[in-house]
Amino acid sequence: MATTFSLSSPLLLHNGVQVPQIGLGTWQSRNGEEVVSAVTHALKVGYRHIDTASIYGNETGIGKAIREAGIPREQLFVTTKVWNSKQGYESTLKAFDQSLNELGLDYIDLYLIHWPVKGKFKHTWQALEELYEEGKVKAIGVSNFHVHHLEELFRSAHILPMVNQIELHPLLTQKEIIGFCHQHKIQVEAWSPLMQGHLDLPLLGALSTKYDRSPAQIVLRWNLQIGVITIPKSVTLRRIEENARIFDFELEETDVLALDGLNINRRFGPDPDNFYF
Ligand code: NDP
Repeated sequence: MATTFSLSSPLLLHNGVQVPQIGLGTWQSRNGEEVVSAVTHALKVGYRHIDTASIYGNETGIGKAIREAGIPREQLFVTTKVWNSKQGYESTLKAFDQSLNELGLDYIDLYLIHWPVKGKFKHTWQALEELYEEGKVKAIGVSNFHVHHLEELFRSAHILPMVNQIELHPLLTQKEIIGFCHQHKIQVEAWSPLMQGHLDLPLLGALSTKYDRSPAQIVLRWNLQIGVITIPKSVTLRRIEENARIFDFELEETDVLALDGLNINRRFGPDPDNFYF
C-alpha cells in the first residue's frame, strides 16, 4: 500500500537526533501475532517510530516486525524503557542488553527510565549516560518525571535528559512540566494521548464535525500543534492509519486554545508521586 500521508515531520532533540513526531504506542499490544501485525501495518503506512518497554513483554514481536519490514535501520526510531525492578546501575546495564537482544537490534534510538523510582533513578541515569557515551543508544531520557524529579536528577547528571515521556491529553495538559522541559531543551512526549480510548467529549465531537476528522485525529493534531511527540496505541489496522492521517489539516488557534482549556488534571494512569510498582 502506498503511503498517502507524510509522517516525516521530525523534531530535534537537544543532541541533534531527529524523532518522528508520531510513533506507534504498544502498551497492551500482545506479543506475537497482534503486535507483529500492528507494527507491520504501521511501518507499511509510513510510521517510522515505535514505542515499547521491557515491561510490555512484546519486544521480540516488535523486533520481528521490524526485521521483516526490511526498512533501513537508520530510518527507524525505536524507544524502549528500563523497568522499575531493574533500576540501579548494574541491573540497568543488564536490562538494556536484554532489551537489545529481544528486539534483535544493534542499538536503541531512545532509552528511557520508565518511572522515577526513589533512591534508584540517579544510579539508573548513570547507566544510561554510559550507554549513550558508548553509542549503544542515540538518545536518553526519562518518563513520568515531575519537575521536582528532574531537578533532583539535574544535581548529579552529566548529560541532561533529551526526552520526558508523560501522560498528556486534553484532560491533563501538563503546562507546568512542558514549560520546565522547554526551558531545559527536553522534548516532551505524550503517552495515553487518546485518553485510552475515552474520546467522548463534547468539544471533540464538535471539532470532529467542524474539520470532518475523527475525535482521535483532532487530539493528535492538537499534539502536533502544541509541539509534543505523540505515541497513540492501536492494534486495529484502520485506526493505525487514521491516527497518522493528521498532517493534511490544521486546527485554528482558537480551537487549539479550546482544547488546552479542557484540562482538569484528570489522570488515566498513576501519579508519578504515588505509584507502588
Ligand atoms: P492511548 O491513549 O494511545 O489509547 C489507546 C486505546 O485507544 C486503545 O484501546 C485503542 O484501541 C484505542 N484507539 C486507538 N486509536 C483509536 C481511534 N482512532 N479511535 C478510537 N479509539 C482508538 O493509550 P495508551 O495508554 O496505550 O498510550 C499510548 C502509548 O504510550 C502506549 O501504548 C505506550 O507505548 C505509551 N505509554 C507509556 C507509559 C509510560 O509510563 N511511559 C504509560 C502508558 C502508555 P485498539 O488498540 O483496540 O484499536
